[in-house]
Amino acid sequence: MRGKFSQQERGGGRSIATSFDDGKELLFDGGPILIIHEVMSNGPLSTKLFESALKYIPGGVNSPVRAFRNVGGQPFFARRAKGARVWDVDGRDLIDYVGTWGPAILGHAPVAVIEAIHSAAKEGVSFGIPNPYEVEMARTICEWVPSIQKVRMVNSGTEATMSAIRLARGFTRRDLIVKFEGCYHGHVDSLLVAAGSGALTHGRPDSAGIPAAFAEKTVVVPLNDVPALEALFAQRGQEIAAIIVEPYPANAGLILPQPGFLQSLRDITAKHGALLIFDEVMTGFRLAKGGVQELEGITPDLTCLGKVIGGGLPVGAFGGRADVMDFLAPNGPVYQAGTLSGNPVALAAGLAQLRELERQSGYTHLESLGQMMEEAVLEMLKKKGLGWRWYRRGSMFCLFFTETEVKNLTDAKTADLAAFAKYFHHCLDNGVYFAPSQFETGFISMAHSPDDLARTAEVAAAAINAAVG
Ligand SMILES: *Cc1c(COP(=O)(O)O)cnc(C)c1O
Repeated sequence: MRGKFSQQERGGGRSIATSFDDGKELLFDGGPILIIHEVMSNGPLSTKLFESALKYIPGGVNSPVRAFRNVGGQPFFARRAKGARVWDVDGRDLIDYVGTWGPAILGHAPVAVIEAIHSAAKEGVSFGIPNPYEVEMARTICEWVPSIQKVRMVNSGTEATMSAIRLARGFTRRDLIVKFEGCYHGHVDSLLVAAGSGALTHGRPDSAGIPAAFAEKTVVVPLNDVPALEALFAQRGQEIAAIIVEPYPANAGLILPQPGFLQSLRDITAKHGALLIFDEVMTGFRLAKGGVQELEGITPDLTCLGKVIGGGLPVGAFGGRADVMDFLAPNGPVYQAGTLSGNPVALAAGLAQLRELERQSGYTHLESLGQMMEEAVLEMLKKKGLGWRWYRRGSMFCLFFTETEVKNLTDAKTADLAAFAKYFHHCLDNGVYFAPSQFETGFISMAHSPDDLARTAEVAAAAINAAVG
């Protein structure tokens, strides 16, 4: 290659930083991929990579919440992830509760999923022709999620919600969509109104670039506010195509439905001839085989899936009543398509993950890990005399830094964000990675051990001292 160079050994002894005398640096040796950048500063590799990233990628990231804007500081770069752990390019290892934002329910890089990817890929990575994995995935979804009679595969959660609302509009021949404040349904134009997740973290619940005429077709109601919903339907019921809801809203922290709320959505949509869409992109296959709809005994008309269903590869799905799904092309008038939809490698990964979860009685085990964490958190809050609000369902959790009971987005926003930022950084500096925002849900995986949870409890207790002390 070039002339003189010096090497830094980090993380596992493999050379990942090589400096050349012309000021360029080899930042990463990923087998056949070498990354050579001009480096502007000294410091940890993550800092150097982020500098380069800022030059070529808007904000340095490919999804906004990764930029750490809500907690300050800079993101770290991942080199490797296995089980409950992530290693950064500087050799630091972290107990991870982000789990690639939901998909990694077995932990990172589970053997069953990796093997399925290998064996599928050997036969071809994409066909654009029907393949057997599609049939098996569709059959599995219909078997596990009882409200789904027919299903179509897509490549992300956003595609699933986008397609589901188009279908609902086409089927009902109505335009209005009702969503709830703080619910995030991906970056679909008409759903990026008062949304959660990155949109919330950045204090811009609405995005530029969405025509006002689109946003007008979306009506936003506060979560858990049945009277507001009834008033809306009384006035505009004939125009409403669908209600879309995260049945356990998990993108503004974790906000649980009040008793009867989900049933009232089912009742009011049925009464007015609108469809009920459950966005279970986060909760589907995370909490039970049949998602929240199984746990709560509610039957939506359409369901959106993503995250866990792809085993870490880009997969989404939407499905539901056969008469509604048959409105899709080629059977019906609603167009929807995808070059890579039903991709064999991605579906092999997803199927392997679902089967492994079933084989290991995943939901029972995750509930017991969740309980273990919950006991530690509640004891810690009690010891410190803090009335902060803790919410959990199975392996999903959120500690709100507020004493206000959180029933909607307004309540969630009472959280002490400065204290959260201190807490987050203290945890990160001590080997525990929670999501870099108060308005996200944490995830426990099958790979988290009781020792991991005990270590996390120790770190979190010290972090709370640092945050409020
Ligand atoms: C993550 C998420 C989406 C968007 O999925 P992407 O794969 O990021 O497009 C939609 N709805 C919910 C509830 C989600 O959590």
